[in-house]
Amino acid sequence: MEKETIDGNRYKLVSRDRYRKRVREGRRLLRFANKGLRSRIGNRAGVRPNVIIIGIDTLRADHLPSYGYGKDTSPNLDLLAQQSLVFSRCYSTSSWTAPAWSSFMTGMLPSQHGLLQYPRPGRLRTDIPTLAEILEAAGYVTLGLHGGGFVDEQFGLGRGFMEYQSHGRRFEHNLRLCLRWIRWNRKWPFFLFWHGFDCHMPYDPPAEFDRFDSEYAGDYDVARLFRPDGDLPENEADHQHIIARYDGEIAYSDSVVGTVLAELERLQILNQTMIVVLSDHGEEFKEHGSYDHTRTLYDELVHVPLMVKFPAGHISRQVDTLISLADLAPTICEWIGLKFPFCHGKTLSQIEKLDKEYVFAETGYLKEYLEESEGWEWQHKPNRPVLLRTIQTQKWKLVIDQDDNPAELYDRDVDELEQHNILDESSEKATYLRSVFEELGPGTKGDEIVESTSEMRQLDEAVIKRLQDLGYF
Ligand SMILES: [Zn+2]
Repeated sequence: MEKETIDGNRYKLVSRDRYRKRVREGRRLLRFANKGLRSRIGNRAGVRPNVIIIGIDTLRADHLPSYGYGKDTSPNLDLLAQQSLVFSRCYSTSSWTAPAWSSFMTGMLPSQHGLLQYPRPGRLRTDIPTLAEILEAAGYVTLGLHGGGFVDEQFGLGRGFMEYQSHGRRFEHNLRLCLRWIRWNRKWPFFLFWHGFDCHMPYDPPAEFDRFDSEYAGDYDVARLFRPDGDLPENEADHQHIIARYDGEIAYSDSVVGTVLAELERLQILNQTMIVVLSDHGEEFKEHGSYDHTRTLYDELVHVPLMVKFPAGHISRQVDTLISLADLAPTICEWIGLKFPFCHGKTLSQIEKLDKEYVFAETGYLKEYLEESEGWEWQHKPNRPVLLRTIQTQKWKLVIDQDDNPAELYDRDVDELEQHNILDESSEKATYLRSVFEELGPGTKGDEIVESTSEMRQLDEAVIKRLQDLGYF
């Protein structure tokens, strides 16, 4: 049995013998399943490409230069973007971690896979297939390295991974193990889900990356923002300081990602590897009166980056198709010649063929939790909803309340930042979108979700501790 020692701890990894057995089994499956599907996207002959998912939690699309940001936050991702499909309109299915990553893994909307209500979302049901399961069944060696919190094993997202581990919330905490594992597995198809909470509060980048407002002269301590009794910034300079610290975390994540990309190049497997970079949700900086995420579904929280570098490495363009995180599991499977089971999401080719133009998002707080914490509210987190849902097109966004009624409507052609609610002037449009939501959306009634029980929703203490470290509760 191979062992890896990191920070003085010993972690068990799957033995090479077990990997080899897996690979032999997988290759038998591949010979059967791969007929006629190889080489479209540059597979090794008869072997599917490696798939690496780099999940940068809490990363707003518009804070990357490849999405138009004016600050140099991500030089490594910029280079990757030059060799990738860059999706300009990828939207999350939620504005917080558990529902969004569960949608990515299952192709389902939050109220369909069930992880929706903060802060006790429950556990993913075992009858819902995951991307990792499908790839493992196809012979992939699989590893999930994650930052803990709401991606923890306890929520069921580890299913399908031969190993699903966390050695800290940051990418760097899992980096050595990540590199070692890639080196071990470079000879056969592997699937790596590598997730980090660096960009998540409390925005505390190492000094060398904390370089986006070096002239800041104030004394605002960003950590104060994330305490229940914390202080909001008093002036614009303090507000910009918060954003600068967040940008520093993006730069730090980017540098660690760069290390892995360089290792793939050194091992000469970059051209055998599909690399998908994405986030689960963004972060609000007072665009709608608050900081942080979870509470609303506006653009700053649901517009996420998505770039895909194919193994051949020469497919580079911007894709403006409206795509949801729920579309990614089926789409990734299609790209590597596999079929994902029936789900809400569509493959990119289906989306383009059908001219599908709707994406959906959902968020909510457990009713019991709001009652428990009644009278106790973070200054920057007012008005927490029991349930909020949206249907969005290229042009429109309709916000639907917990009683399934239209609550807000935005015309994104003229109001991309979603500041002017035009529900009253365009009620016919809202009614139409509401009917499409009913027909094509999650198919779940708001009142059913609101009344759902807390069954299976107890968190163990270790998970609670790690969530508290991330600023929750
Ligand atoms: Zn998240």
